[in-house]
Amino acid sequence: MIKEKIFKGIPASPGITIGKAYLYTKNQIRINVQNLDDSEIENEIEEFNRAIELSRKELNKIFTISKERIGEQQSKIFDAQIEILNDTIFINSVIERIRKEKRSASYIFNNEINKLGKILLSANDDYMKERFADINDVKNRVVRNMKREKLVSKVDEDSVIVAHELTPADTILFSRRKVQGYATDTGGITSHAAIISRALRVPAVVGIKVISKAIKTGDSIIIDGFEGVFILNPEKETIKKYRKKFNEYAKHEKKLLKIIDLPCETLDKKIISITANIEFNEEVDFIAKYGHCGIGLYRTEHLFIEKGDFPSEQEQIEEYVHIANLTYPNPVIIRTFDIGGDKLLPSSLKESNPFLGWRGIRICLDRIQIFREQLKALLLSSTKGNIKIMLPMISSLDEVKKSKEILNEVKQDLDSGGLDYDRNIQLGIMIEVPSACMLADELAKEVDFFSIGTNDLIQYLLAVDRGNEMISNMFQEFHPAVIRALKKIIDSAHKNNIIVSICGEMASVPVATSVLIGLGIDELSVIPSVLPEIKQIIRVIKMSEAESLADSLLQYSTEGKIRNEVVQFYEKKIKPKLPN
Ligand code: PEP
Ligand code: MG
Repeated sequence: MIKEKIFKGIPASPGITIGKAYLYTKNQIRINVQNLDDSEIENEIEEFNRAIELSRKELNKIFTISKERIGEQQSKIFDAQIEILNDTIFINSVIERIRKEKRSASYIFNNEINKLGKILLSANDDYMKERFADINDVKNRVVRNMKREKLVSKVDEDSVIVAHELTPADTILFSRRKVQGYATDTGGITSHAAIISRALRVPAVVGIKVISKAIKTGDSIIIDGFEGVFILNPEKETIKKYRKKFNEYAKHEKKLLKIIDLPCETLDKKIISITANIEFNEEVDFIAKYGHCGIGLYRTEHLFIEKGDFPSEQEQIEEYVHIANLTYPNPVIIRTFDIGGDKLLPSSLKESNPFLGWRGIRICLDRIQIFREQLKALLLSSTKGNIKIMLPMISSLDEVKKSKEILNEVKQDLDSGGLDYDRNIQLGIMIEVPSACMLADELAKEVDFFSIGTNDLIQYLLAVDRGNEMISNMFQEFHPAVIRALKKIIDSAHKNNIIVSICGEMASVPVATSVLIGLGIDELSVIPSVLPEIKQIIRVIKMSEAESLADSLLQYSTEGKIRNEVVQFYEKKIKPKLPN
């Protein structure tokens, strides 16, 4: 009998799955050495051509971005790699060999590239040896691109994906196979792969450090996304215990649905707006089912993550109109592309400090054409009057002014073309960089609303990488600096008569709700799965008590003291009033 083994990680997305593991090892390039049947040959060639095309597209993108960032000269290596893929004589010779020798494309391609490599290596010249590394890179890219689909299609629909690391793109790709959970060695609670799994309502445990080494595909496992527990080879008794927990959770969710149409107000009648954070189109169904509410943050990055490229204006319009219609008459705040950080295109350039790098509004203001196109698509989709535009990663007043100028130019273009759009469309910004917090008063005079992105604000304010499991205990939403920063932002917004919401994950943490309301937040934009629970909490809070809680927290100088008081408040004033 195989022994049960328990691993502890970070709970990243709630829920329980009892199932089978699928080990995802994308970095290992494996060459398929088997012979092909006659019937498989044409398919194999088609697959090879597709992989070449995809690799060429990825490299072209890298080449373009690279030229912009580091100049033509330094970018030549990518050009050289593209050249290999454009060499029809070389590619055709691979195809001919596949037909003749009936071996897999990856085997033949690998073999041909190795032949080239041997020539370069024998030149006994450092420059030539470096070129060998370049062509090896091309080989890995093409083989990986041939493997990608196969890898995913092999996954059984009810598997739990176990990996060393998952990118947002991987997470999205797997979600199409209806996977039942994610478990990774790396990552923290606010890494985008974790956010995406919450958005997909798929249980996830991250930061388990060794899990990808400890399991193999097909192993029996349980993941508990509430506690951050991963159990390998669970015993009968353990399975029974978790089945019970699973059923209780399902019952609890059903009960919460009953409060959907009750007003979102405190006991003393202060109305708090509650909206949802939406990451994908698929999630919008949630709005109809649970929410009957607006969307406080619609992340548009999935549009390019799924496509591997920027979406066209028409594709964007289709998406934005669809979401505006589904949400109508409630508002939807659509955030312009927040690329960079851990939300990378498959072909994005590696930066040594991506979170402090070319990200969000910085990319939009550098690549104005892409920005203009997105603003135009947003305006053209806004005729129902319920779309608001939000800019991410603002760190200076100039960025806001420049963005407004561009928005005005796009509006003028539409005016001169006689095209219709919402002339009162609101423009807001994310406050998620410490410099924006310091400038909140001035920024509030320029825009219609603020939305606080605590995921980034905490990471930048405390200098704690949001995705690094080694320091996840230092990512503290109740750090005194965070509480004081929130207070400053909220007060600046109110002084200038604009609404301030919070759309970072902190808004979805039940014990934090009283604190945020006490500090004066107008709106909470939360992950869909916790929306009923947070609303339930708001309905049992007394505004006057939340305000005195916030006042006392502002006096403390350590996280321990603040957390203690917050938890006590929750245990004494909130929990007893919540329905079981
Ligand atoms: C945030 O930073 O809190 C936020 C909501 O934006 P994202 O998580 O997409 O960076
Ligand atoms: Mg952010």
